[in-house]
Amino acid sequence: MVDRFLEYVRFDTQSDDNSDTCPSTAKQLALGERLVIELTELGLRGVGEPTPSMDDNGYVLAELPGTTGGVVGLCAHIDTAPAFDGCEVKPQIVEAYQGGPIEVGHGVVIDPGDTPELLECVGDTLITTDGSTLLGADDKSGIATIMGALEILTREPGLSHPTVRVCFNPDEEIGRGADRFPLERFDCPVAFTIDGGFTGEISVETFSADKAVVTFKGVSVHPGAAKGKLVNALTYMGKLLDRLPMAESPECTEGREGFYHPVVASGDAASCSVQLIIRDFDTRVVEERGLRLKAMASALMAEETRLDVSVEITEQYRNMFDVLQGHPEILDRLERAVRAAGIEPQLRPVRGGTDGSRLTAMGMPTPNIFAGGINLHGPAEWVSTRVMGQVACTILNLVQVYGEERG
Ligand SMILES: [Zn+2]
Repeated sequence: MVDRFLEYVRFDTQSDDNSDTCPSTAKQLALGERLVIELTELGLRGVGEPTPSMDDNGYVLAELPGTTGGVVGLCAHIDTAPAFDGCEVKPQIVEAYQGGPIEVGHGVVIDPGDTPELLECVGDTLITTDGSTLLGADDKSGIATIMGALEILTREPGLSHPTVRVCFNPDEEIGRGADRFPLERFDCPVAFTIDGGFTGEISVETFSADKAVVTFKGVSVHPGAAKGKLVNALTYMGKLLDRLPMAESPECTEGREGFYHPVVASGDAASCSVQLIIRDFDTRVVEERGLRLKAMASALMAEETRLDVSVEITEQYRNMFDVLQGHPEILDRLERAVRAAGIEPQLRPVRGGTDGSRLTAMGMPTPNIFAGGINLHGPAEWVSTRVMGQVACTILNLVQVYGEERG
């Protein structure tokens, strides 16, 4: 599993938000092709075809036939974040970590002071960067641990498990992993992403998210002759932004608290608009925040009747728990699988959206399982091979739990 991981991180698979293609970067296909070969070598089948394959959009699909009925999906993403260089990654191995700061190179230091997870990994073998790139444990740790679990399942025919379908997808980091997900072909009643997070972290909740665009239309008059005539749209945009509750801003919230967040504004004194994102774990609260924005717009128009303010709200994604609460057995089985790996599950609500929240909304409940990486998207990224072992163990337990309940 570790050998596979060290091989995968050497592939540059950085995605690109400015690209219109799928995958966004052709270089992701190189790792996809490598994975097709390795899945074929493991003896897996394709999904609806004899051998594993990659589709035209760069989604790699494979299937391990079950010893019992049922189907479970496992997903991880091929790309790495555009936020930091992912070219020529040179993984460094720290054997039997002794504690204390790790100087990985290029002036980058991983310090237990700001990375407390290190304190739990004394004695472990750690994999770091050389300080010049990110590592790509996000999400090549997810891919390697799935491959490791599959390898054990193919070698140990005595382990009972349902049919396991695997999808390695491109472009998660730019929010497009679910866009061309071959959902009909994959056809799993439940799937799990293995991505991010430290020991025991599992996520069945994400934000619910709306976007609001508030447009202001004033009355434009030459400022030299404006007294009593001009209505400045920018002035009223400022008033609206000032009336947003500061306590409900990203900078004042954490944990399960939601917020309004103005993202971008444009325009002039005659006409301007501001785009906000609205977030909360409670979907009703998101909708209430939208109504409060509309009420603020109405209040401004009452104060200045020549002003026009419109609020347009669009749904972005929904908390996957809205769906998952109707399937309590999924969380129950996932927690049993984590505990059977000797770890206490840590339920961590994701303050954002994931491919899993969109796949869940598209009809395939898809919680997330930790993949072990820390300090993701930067040069201080690292992963413990012991934690990677816990991930693979959790995956093996999970498919067996599904197998037992079917068998
Ligand atoms: Zn990730």
